[in-house]
Formats: sequence, C-alpha cells, structure tokens
Amino acid sequence: MNEDAIPYLTDWRNFSTGRALAVVRPANAQQVAKIVQLSSHAGVPIVPQGGNTGQVAAATPDDTGTAIVISMQRLNRIRAIDTDNDTITVEAGCILQAVQEAAKSANRLFPLSLGAEGSCFIGGNLATNAGGTQVLRYGNARELTLGLEVITAEGAVWNGLRGLRKDNTGYDLRDLYIGSEGTLGIITAATLKLFPLPNAQRTSLLALGSLDDAAAVLRLARSHLGASLTGFEVMSRECMDLVVQTYTQQHLPFISPPEGAEWYGLLELSDSEDEAHATLRFESVLEAAMESGCLIDAAISSSQAQSDAFWHLRESITLALAENGYCIKHDISLPVSIIPAFVRSTNIEIQQRYPGARMMVFGHLGDGNLHYNLLGPASADRQSVAGRESEIQALVHDRVVAAGGSISAEQGIGSRRVDDLARYKDPVELALMHRIKHALDPENIMNPGKVLGLSATHSSTR
Ligand code: FAD
Repeated sequence: MNEDAIPYLTDWRNFSTGRALAVVRPANAQQVAKIVQLSSHAGVPIVPQGGNTGQVAAATPDDTGTAIVISMQRLNRIRAIDTDNDTITVEAGCILQAVQEAAKSANRLFPLSLGAEGSCFIGGNLATNAGGTQVLRYGNARELTLGLEVITAEGAVWNGLRGLRKDNTGYDLRDLYIGSEGTLGIITAATLKLFPLPNAQRTSLLALGSLDDAAAVLRLARSHLGASLTGFEVMSRECMDLVVQTYTQQHLPFISPPEGAEWYGLLELSDSEDEAHATLRFESVLEAAMESGCLIDAAISSSQAQSDAFWHLRESITLALAENGYCIKHDISLPVSIIPAFVRSTNIEIQQRYPGARMMVFGHLGDGNLHYNLLGPASADRQSVAGRESEIQALVHDRVVAAGGSISAEQGIGSRRVDDLARYKDPVELALMHRIKHALDPENIMNPGKVLGLSATHSSTR
C-alpha cells in the first residue's frame, strides 16, 4: 500500500498498523451501498472508519490484508436543519465540531462534546455511542439521536431518518445500530436532537482535597442547579501536573497550587435566564461547598476565553498521556456513590502489585464514568509497561465487575476489549448478541474481529 494509506491503517493509540486491499472514500450513501453490495458478493470484509480517534482499535483493519477500509470523510454534508422540530440531519462524515457549529448558526445547541470533537465524525460518535462532557444533562449519543440512515450488511439502504420523538412501531433498530461499532451496518446519516442555546454559562475549576469531597460538591451542585448543571468532571492532581509539565503554555488558574489539593474538578452551569441569574446560582453552590468544608478553592471564569482555558486543561489529559509513555487505560463506570472508595482501595492494590505506577485518573464523575489510567514508573520503558497491561487490567476489571460496574463506559469494545467482553458479559446476553450479529450480518463481513471477536474466517456461510 502506498504511504497515503498509512493513517487509515493505524489506530489513534498506535497499537498497530494493519493492511487492507484498498481504502475507499465514497461521496454519498448510494456509493456506500454499492461498495457494500460488491463486498458482500465477493466476501470481502469491510472496516468502516470515521475520524479514527477511537481508543480501542476498532476502526482499522487487521494485518491479513483481506479487508477494505471505507472512510466516511467525504459524506460531510449538513442535509437539513428544522428549527421548529429542533432537529438537524447530517451525514456520517461530518466532523462533530461542524455539527455543533451548524446548530449554533441556527441559534440551537447540539450538546455532544468531547476532547476529539475537532477530528471525530458524527458517524463514529454514533457507532460508539459516544459520551463526553455533557452526558450529565443531555445524555450520550444514543439519547441525542432520533433517526438513522444505514447501509445494511447486504448493501440495502434503510432510510430511518425520522425526526420523531415518539415512535413505538416495533423493534428499535436505531438503538441497535448505535453503539454497534460498525459490526452490523454502516451509518450514513442521522437526524439529531437540538436544544436551546443557554443564555449564560459559568465554569469553575475547583481545588479539592479528595474524591469524597468532589462527590460532595457534585451532590450540592445537583441539588442547587438541577438541569442547569451541564458538566462535572474530575481530574487527579497527577493528571493536572502532567498537563502543565507537558504543555508549558498551559497553567492552573491559581497563584500557587492550592495546599492539600489532591483533585481538581470542573463545574459548568448553563443558565436559560441571564448573566446575573447565572452568577447568583453559581455562587450559591460554591458558597455552600466552602461552608461545608468540601472545597479548598475555586477559580471562576470571567470570560469565554477563560472558560475555554479551563476546559482545555481537562481535554489535554488524553494527549498528554499519549506523549508520556505507554498508558494502561480503563474506561469504567460505577455508581457514583461508590467511586471514591473504589478508587482508594484499587489505587492501594495497584501500588502493591506495581510499585511506582503513576495513577492518572480523571473523568466524568457526574456520569459515574472514570478513565482510570496509569503510566508506569518514570524510569520504565514502553515495552515493560505494556507487558504489565493484561495483569493490571484484569485486576481493575475484576474489581469493577464485582462492584456492579462496566468495563467500557463510553469507548466501546473494538479489538482491544474483545476478551474482556467474553469474560465479563452475562452469557445469555452474549448469546443474544451473537444471534443478532448473525441475523444482521450473516456473512460476517462487517468489521470482523471487533466487539464479538469473530474473525472473517468464522463466517458461518463461507
Ligand atoms: P472511529 O474511531 O473512526 O471509529 C470508531 C468505531 O466506529 C469503529 O468501530 C468504526 O468501525 C465505527 N464507525 C465509524 N464510523 C462509522 C459509520 N459511519 N458507520 C458504522 N460504523 C462506524 N469518547 C467518548 O465517548 N467520550 C470522550 O470524552 C472522549 N474523549 C476523547 C478525547 C480524545 C483526545 C480522543 C483522542 C478520543 C476521545 N474519545 C472519547 C474517543 C473517540 O473520540 C470516540 O470514540 C469517537 O466517538 C470516535 O469517533 P470517530 O469518528 O473517530 O470514530
């Protein structure tokens, strides 16, 4: 393959560079359908690819060189905006930020927001049921979607682009394709929900003594702000130290590091009234948190630029980790109520098992979703850290599942978590998933090897 193909064959985390028969870049749904028909006929596996920002190596081919990669990047039209129905219909290759901007230009909000929004595609967001920083208020990608256009594994076009908020006409295929990581069909367009733009926003970077304190501030924020609470993120001190050391132009908004701050929080309020109302409500939460002793210090944004800078600190963590060696990652969710105790006891166990490991924990506390990550000791090379991955992941995932949590909160299964899915998923649920896969993709040509781990040679008919 020529050099131009390499980015399409290499996953974001650089786990591997696969091989492909071809990389194709169709321009519309009909072309996608034609390609799938031909592939289905010839038994050629297909790997759908969006912005290729996924964290679990789901959008790139294996090294057999038997598959084609279908890049969605040319399907990038905003098809329609209906402000009376509060919907937008977009093609799968639209960059998420372009969808947000199109909504904004129609005086509406499309609230899906995540660190990769400048490069991930809306089709990829739907295929992974992406979460991000606004789930607390607006839900994840599935909850933001009303209708889909899908190319089935046989190459038929299913036009399910319905802008309906109520539609109980049988099985919900839309929700089946969302989150299926390209293993059941290809999403070519979607009709998404829009919301009113907030009239005022306030963001604060919180300095916190512990994760228990973060959970206490979250409870206060929920009770004071209700639906106006649109973001609540936590970042360990180690994460923030790593960001400011890696990107020296970024700074914490405190004159000196607040004494005793082991965690930082990011609190966002979106107000439907005005600036004065937003300020009043925001200050009431922070005052209550100070009085109850769960907040050490708080920097409140006084401008959009400052708010952006706070968010930028948070969103730089994933990139900073990528620049600082091999990162052992977990994307877990648990009931918020047990997260502080879980992190405390799991940190201790990891330190016993892997002395010197640097815990890099951050995430969407409001959704009970943590990126429970770790770097190896400062002196360790990439290979030796990678060598500890399966043992550490088993430790963390065993504990998560024992506590009633999920081993993949928002990033999906891809090819990296296939074994874990088989190990932890309820056997009845797993068997049903296999039956669904077989019903919708009997030739197993859609993204083989991902999610259920069925390689192309496991096809039941070949
Ligand atoms: P890709 O990586 O290209 O593909 C992902 C999967 O979807 C693959 O299985 C692929 O085959 C399939 N796919 C892609 N397009 C289609 C289609 N049109 N039809 C069918 N299948 C398709 N994720 C979160 O959920 N929340 C976060 O907060 C978050 N933060 C991130 C921050 C950074 C800095 C980075 C790099 C990633 C982050 N991610 C996050 C992960 C990633 O951005 C999301 O999973 C995103 O939704 C993937 O979109 P994509 O277009 O890059 O998809």
